[in-house]
Amino acid sequence: MKILRFSTPDLSPRYGWLHEDKIGFIDGDPFDAYRRFDPDLSVDSVRLLPPVLPGKIVCVGRNYQAHAKEHNTEVGEIPTLFLKPNSSLIGPGDPILLPPQSKQVEHEAELAVVIGKRGRWIQPENAMDHVFGYTIANDVTARDLQRSDVQWTRGKGFDTFCPIGPWIETDFDPADALITCHVGDQLRQMASTRDMVFSVPQLVVFISSVMTLEPGDLILTGTPAGVGELVPGLNVSINIEGLGTLVNPVANESIHA
Ligand code: MG
Repeated sequence: MKILRFSTPDLSPRYGWLHEDKIGFIDGDPFDAYRRFDPDLSVDSVRLLPPVLPGKIVCVGRNYQAHAKEHNTEVGEIPTLFLKPNSSLIGPGDPILLPPQSKQVEHEAELAVVIGKRGRWIQPENAMDHVFGYTIANDVTARDLQRSDVQWTRGKGFDTFCPIGPWIETDFDPADALITCHVGDQLRQMASTRDMVFSVPQLVVFISSVMTLEPGDLILTGTPAGVGELVPGLNVSINIEGLGTLVNPVANESIHA
């Protein structure tokens, strides 16, 4: 099932579910108890929002061998973790804003895991029981600032640096799905999730040995090779086979306090 969040000029933000090109209302909490109504609203008539509002966004660095290599680093013995702030979250179609502090803002196409069930010290055999579904994420990164700082918080944490969507797919196999990323019509990234060093269950187990995972939390599973600069005026478009396409325009940030 595809679960999304949307609003219209008349409807406040809410959850819905998608069938073909129609949205049906969801009453209640999709992470707990809810009721679905027949789809009758055209998806073209609504504004899609980030499909979940996570409590935290946990990210994995260097989870594809070829991406680690393009930055002259090695994949570690254990996953490299960092966090993005919730204020970086935007939805499908929302603009990524290039901040004036950076001269090199890059896309990172990633599979994102949506947690469905609370857990700490999750065991490998139970890991997938804690996964609610999957969506697409762009781990937008100010590469020059990431390089110049010891911690990655600034380079990864600007407003608009975490586009996600367009929806959560609950019926998806993360083992071997093709990820592609285009900037304008130029193909930048193409790889399979099969090339991930640490698998989805391994990441759930490892992260939950550090922090409690809660319903709605997001895990960004790392990007394959081919990261490159975003260009103002050109859309960045990420497709994951079986999940859909996340498209965001790119613009320079105008400063106003
Ligand atoms: Mg990343």
